[in-house]
Amino acid sequence: MGRDRPFQPLRRKRFAVSEYIELYQRITGCAECSLSQGRTNAVPGEGSQNADIMFVGEGPGYYEDRDGRPFIGQAGKLLDEMLAKIGLDRQDVYVTNMVKCRPPNNRDPLPEELSACAPYLDKQIEIISPRVIVCLGRFSFSKFFPGETISKARGRPRNWNGIKVYPMYHPAAALHNPKLKPAIEKDFRNLPALIEQVNQATQDAPEPEQTPARQLSMFE
Ligand code: SF4
Repeated sequence: MGRDRPFQPLRRKRFAVSEYIELYQRITGCAECSLSQGRTNAVPGEGSQNADIMFVGEGPGYYEDRDGRPFIGQAGKLLDEMLAKIGLDRQDVYVTNMVKCRPPNNRDPLPEELSACAPYLDKQIEIISPRVIVCLGRFSFSKFFPGETISKARGRPRNWNGIKVYPMYHPAAALHNPKLKPAIEKDFRNLPALIEQVNQATQDAPEPEQTPARQLSMFE
């Protein structure tokens, strides 16, 4: 039963579970770029079907590749910690990455890999239909606003196709450079206010037909 939340989900959405499963299967069997050759598991993403907030990181790391789940390493722990500070957990959001397979030695994804994988994220955005996309790091942000630096853009929400895009540093950046952690904490603290703002802007919109909440995972 209900735990206290800092804000309520904006609305319930129509959701085609079969469409999500089909996408999931396409990703786990994908060989569209060379990252498929070194992966243990593709990491499509996971979270709530009713997520109003989608987090988009860069790509899977060692633990994510091993288990096929996003953000379960040290950066994931920091993400969970930040979510908990604003009263959220993974069940409230959807989490994915720009590329679904681990780049060798955690190197940056190459342009051709980002390009090959982009249709999967586009489809996830279409299916989940978040109201806020939190870009974790520069690769994620550059999908929506190419050519801008994350250090200048972070913490300021932008409109993109009717969605608020909210850039912040990738949690892994704070692990490498602890001086960045206060900035990430500050940007997380401002997230509930952003959701509330979006909520206010949409409260008069008609409610779509309700569907029962369901948690999506790699086991779907
Ligand atoms: S990174 Fe994306 S495009 Fe490349 S093989 Fe994996 S799922 Fe396919």
